[in-house]
Amino acid sequence: MIPPIARRFVAGETPATALEHVRECNDRGVGVLLNLLGEHYEDPTEADDDARAYAALLDDLAGTGLDACITVKPTQIGLDVSEARFRDNLRGIVDRADEHDRFVWLDMEDHTTTDATLDAFEEFVEARGGGMGVCLQANLKRTRDDIERFADVPGKIRLVKGAYDEPPATAYKSKERVNEVYEDYLEYMFEAYDGGIAVGSHDPVMIDRARELHDAHGTPFEIQMLMGVREDVQIDLAREYEVYQYAPYGGKWLSYFYRRMMERKENAGFALRAILGR
Ligand code: FAD
Repeated sequence: MIPPIARRFVAGETPATALEHVRECNDRGVGVLLNLLGEHYEDPTEADDDARAYAALLDDLAGTGLDACITVKPTQIGLDVSEARFRDNLRGIVDRADEHDRFVWLDMEDHTTTDATLDAFEEFVEARGGGMGVCLQANLKRTRDDIERFADVPGKIRLVKGAYDEPPATAYKSKERVNEVYEDYLEYMFEAYDGGIAVGSHDPVMIDRARELHDAHGTPFEIQMLMGVREDVQIDLAREYEVYQYAPYGGKWLSYFYRRMMERKENAGFALRAILGR
């Protein structure tokens, strides 16, 4: 059982609780990106199991009329086993998503996975003519080239600041520099892309900049934020823009919850107050 304190960030342990959460978000005008918690499987059985779980989730969503799609970590479906395993499992998921006309996102993990993730995304999204998205991380020095590479590719790009502690040769380490390039990339995307832009950030500065760029260029975009973070703002923004909430679910919630708690002092305080019952 997930303790009440963790339920702010995790949509339960089962597909049924996840779909219930989607219903609640949709009632507030917010779509949902569903992520089954799991990553870095070295055992192919675990990777295959999670790929099957995503396919089953897509079956569960079929005919519900719910506004939700899935977002998958490459190492959750076999990238740490082999690139071939990852692609086979991704093909199974994407085929099922095609049957049900659902969107598939690929999360981006640390820099050692970037090439394999982007190459698979490009091949699959070109073959499908859209229906897929991938995340690009502003902190990686290579991302300027990747953003240009995907300007004319169908599908969507989620721009985030980057969550992984990368080596200085590969990534910008200062927050200021990452903010600067994030804004530069937003400007490039709103000018060069026809659409397919997802702003994956809670940062009011970046959201406001995206709104200004949308007003200036008319380029469609969506805003994506995590479950449990600035949810009041998500609902407000959803009155004017397309907003998706990234909602993780599943039995492996503890390490995810721990990460959410540790990234902000306010969250750690919230956890402590909940534990002390105050
Ligand atoms: P930060 O730079 O952390 O904060 C800037 C400002 O935003 C803060 O000053 C505050 O005003 C506001 N803010 C930020 N967090 C909070 C909070 N918890 N509560 C209240 N206000 C807050 N990373 C990856 O590497 N790969 C992925 O695939 C990936 N997918 C993501 C998907 C989504 C939908 C989101 C939202 C993030 C994803 N990330 C991913 C994480 C991302 O890289 C950042 O680590 C994370 O979003 C923190 O950066 P930020 O832009 O939100 O703002």
